[in-house]
Amino acid sequence: MRIYDLIYKKKLGGTLSDEEIAFWVKGAADGSVPDEQSAALLMAICWRGMSTAETLALTLNMRDSGDRVDLSAVPGIKVDKHSTGGVGDKTTLILGPIVAACGLPCAMFSGRGLGHTGGTVDKYAAIPGLKVELSQAEFKESLRRTGFANSAQTGDICPADRKLYALRDLTATVESIPLITASIMSKKLAGGADALVLDVKCGGGAFMKTLEDARALARSMVEVGKAHGMRIKALITRMEEPLGWAIGNSLEVIESVEILKGMHGDGDLARMSLRLAAEMLLLGGAEPDLAAAEARVAQVVADGTAMAVFRAFVAQNGGDPRAVDDFSRLPQATRHIKVPAPRSGYVQAIDSRALGILAMELGAGRKSKDDVLDLGVGIRVHVRPGQRVEAGEPLLTLHASDRPLPTWQENTVVIDAQSPASVAPWLLGEEA
Ligand code: URA
Repeated sequence: MRIYDLIYKKKLGGTLSDEEIAFWVKGAADGSVPDEQSAALLMAICWRGMSTAETLALTLNMRDSGDRVDLSAVPGIKVDKHSTGGVGDKTTLILGPIVAACGLPCAMFSGRGLGHTGGTVDKYAAIPGLKVELSQAEFKESLRRTGFANSAQTGDICPADRKLYALRDLTATVESIPLITASIMSKKLAGGADALVLDVKCGGGAFMKTLEDARALARSMVEVGKAHGMRIKALITRMEEPLGWAIGNSLEVIESVEILKGMHGDGDLARMSLRLAAEMLLLGGAEPDLAAAEARVAQVVADGTAMAVFRAFVAQNGGDPRAVDDFSRLPQATRHIKVPAPRSGYVQAIDSRALGILAMELGAGRKSKDDVLDLGVGIRVHVRPGQRVEAGEPLLTLHASDRPLPTWQENTVVIDAQSPASVAPWLLGEEA
């Protein structure tokens, strides 16, 4: 078999066989297929797409390229959640302890942030002492003792995805539905959970800019999950403005704890987190219907059980549990700079992508994968779409270090004299 022939076939819109996909993935991972040939094949896939059977074969070969986590010794249906990535998205920190407090083992592997979106692992790193890279034994121990485990990937999970993702990042081939499906689902299948709730982000701050594309990605991932006996459901959620008030690692821990303590209950972040948690309970068979699941989720927040699980998880994994009640123990910014509204009017739009980049430039995120983060910096967003503001009122507060401030683009928050006709809902669709 020659990789040249596979590239040629896909370039003309042909279908690759299971054997051909296996040959490519193995070769990409062990270096026997040169990067330029993998890059060419990735580009051909971007243009020509893949059938369901091809996407499935790519997922399986990537899953089997490395270690797999075996959670079968932990009793119960293990549930996981995955978000395709957004600005201010800290739902994992909130829903993990909630699901565990409802009695369902919640086993999640998370990533570090790159570019304008943050990563869960970086947010945890803001809690002093908390270990974010658990061994398989530590991961299982956390799950057994607290019902909750969340860590950077352990061991050598999906090395073929690591290789191909790095090439996609360099060759503008990230935004392909079969490639995203295989990349995410291979890691989820290798992670050992029995059930998975997907949060597919849609909008200017997400990979998928249109509802049509977001639906197609959701459908593709659900199809692959089901083909492997996974219990799986996708929600499609809006990613135009940032989620919640906090962007940046310490700030996002604070906002997550506030929601676990029952604050901001009418905001999109709380509603989304509680709904995703309820969907996890349903998939895990812990509640008979959505209304019962939502009631149970609300109860464990109100009675403090979810917050108790979060403290136990932090302590179990070496973190200082006092930091989740005394925020002065978290890394802090040295300067707080208010950005005032340039005129009076109504907030029409907040550009989450621009704010994600601004937070990254403040030091909260990575431009390249070896950058060291400043965990205390970030942005507090004071306004929401539809809100009335007066000239000079703060739109944002930049939590900055002593490094030079990045440039602020005024059109990041759009203000107009007219009140917007409507504010779009956070939930845009479902796929099961
Ligand atoms: N996240 C992943 O892990 N892979 C992709 O392809 C896109 C987002």
